Amino acid sequence: MQFRIGKISAKCSSCDSTQFKPDPEDYSGPLARFYCAVCGTAMQYADLIAQIGQQAAPPSKEARVPRRKRAHSKGGTVRR
Ligand SMILES: [Zn+2]
Repeated sequence: MQFRIGKISAKCSSCDSTQFKPDPEDYSGPLARFYCAVCGTAMQYADLIAQIGQQAAPPSKEARVPRRKRAHSKGGTVRR
């Protein structure tokens, strides 16, 4: 089975396969585990979904914005 949203598929962290098998113990929910169909690496459902989210997100926002503007936010001594 694949985890795919739109054009993006979650990949195995070891071999980049996009095929996974469900855990035989059949957990469900965000802690469910899946195994890579090729190399058997275990991945959590939540991680697979997060990975898709990261691939889908544009790589700009929040990544390299320095956060320095909060030094002056206290009280009334804001100066420019
Ligand atoms: Zn793999």
